[in-house]
Amino acid sequence: MKPTVALVGRPNVGKSTLFNRLTKTRDALVADIPGLTRDRHYGHGRVGNKPYFVVDTGGFEPVVQDGIMHEMARQTLQAVDEADCVVFIVDARIGITPQDKVIANHLRQISQPVWLVVNKSEGMQQSIVAAEFYELGLGDPLAISASHGEGVKHLMELVLEPFEVVDDATLSDHPKFAVVGRPNVGKSTLVNAILGEERVIAFDQPGTTRDSIYIEFERDSRPYTVVDTAGVRRRGKVTEVIEKFSVVKTMQAIEDCNVVVLVLDARQDVSEQDATIAGFVLETGRALVVAVNKWEGLDVAVRDQVKRDIGRKLNFLEFAKFHFISALQGKGVGDLFDSIDTAYKAAMVKLPTPKLTRALQLAVEKQQPPRAGAVRPKLRYAHQGGVNPPVVVVHGNALEHIPDSYWRYLEHTFVKMFKLQGTPLRVQFKRSD
Ligand code: GDP
Ligand code: GDP
Repeated sequence: MKPTVALVGRPNVGKSTLFNRLTKTRDALVADIPGLTRDRHYGHGRVGNKPYFVVDTGGFEPVVQDGIMHEMARQTLQAVDEADCVVFIVDARIGITPQDKVIANHLRQISQPVWLVVNKSEGMQQSIVAAEFYELGLGDPLAISASHGEGVKHLMELVLEPFEVVDDATLSDHPKFAVVGRPNVGKSTLVNAILGEERVIAFDQPGTTRDSIYIEFERDSRPYTVVDTAGVRRRGKVTEVIEKFSVVKTMQAIEDCNVVVLVLDARQDVSEQDATIAGFVLETGRALVVAVNKWEGLDVAVRDQVKRDIGRKLNFLEFAKFHFISALQGKGVGDLFDSIDTAYKAAMVKLPTPKLTRALQLAVEKQQPPRAGAVRPKLRYAHQGGVNPPVVVVHGNALEHIPDSYWRYLEHTFVKMFKLQGTPLRVQFKRSD
């Protein structure tokens, strides 16, 4: 699994500046998709071939007992708890503050590795900057400048050194789908409905609270794995444990599957949290099936209203198939599998170079890339660069002049030509010299 790195520190030390720097490349992929809201506190980063999650914990105010600050401290503690390692940021220009000491005291007691980072140290001498912060008792302070990018790569190499390069989840030779959604939408009811009828082959107990349960089963003699973020509640159990919603768990599950089943609640408006989860799915490029749950017994007007709400707020999921189901009554659950199978096949599709190049030529014949001044970008050929999501690498000249609109046009055209249902597809440009 990808390691999770939590950024911790009192306000104003530069956490979000560092967060933005670490997540920049991934953001660029989805930055201009209309309607996509993203929680700015969770993101993906990568150093070399090592991907990781990064969590900006917002504020750390462990001493305040009530109100918003208390809530922030609680979330920060949860983030630290779920993280594989912690980057604790202090401010070179201000020096040690009492708040830094309180945070350091807490971090000295946790079991994960903690890296002490002195930010805003551009133009200062590393040894002098570091000397002052030894006192915090967290080992060698590392001087960086988040806003200038100095020392950041070195920091992340150190942080990630203990972690192995993760296996590619997409190598799974059968559908491995994650059931995700915010609390109470019906995830565990759905997983129970799915497993109620199927032959369960293996069942993984989670190691920690942030881990999902992995269940292998067969349906119509075909293998599947469900990544269950809710934790199956045993049927007939009297008390229901309300699970703490864990964004990290959800992100891990999305990363570690090849198809996501996003569960929405027809009896609640589409919320910010739904959109955030959908945003993660888009960011990773996973195949997607949407299950709008609790559909039974709603009258027509309400159903129309729900569909409009979803269409408006989640318009960036237009590539996914939507199902309207009742997990409680087991209605529509079987149909989900048709879409899971289709989405899986589309995500893993193999597109031969001659076919892709022909498709590219057809797309260009229909609509040429626009001129940029005196030059017109020339698209020569295409080959596949990856699966889940399928990546099409287009070679040619002057490709840097291709506008985003044409980029999207190509993506849509390939999806249509190869009839890919349920997966996004990405186009990358490569200059041929
Ligand atoms: P957060 O509250 O911890 O998330 O801090 P921010 O990232 O919002 O940064 C607080 C202020 O410090 C902003 O004005 C940043 O521009 C500034 N800042 C962040 N990193 C650096 C740095 O490396 N050097 C300098 N000089 N300023 C920085
Ligand atoms: P989770 O937190 O997403 O795992 O949600 P649960 O599966 O625990 O369900 C939350 C609540 O919604 C429970 O009271 C379920 O009985 C109820 N629920 C789940 N599916 C349906 C459904 O299809 N229709 C209705 N009306 N209620 C449902």
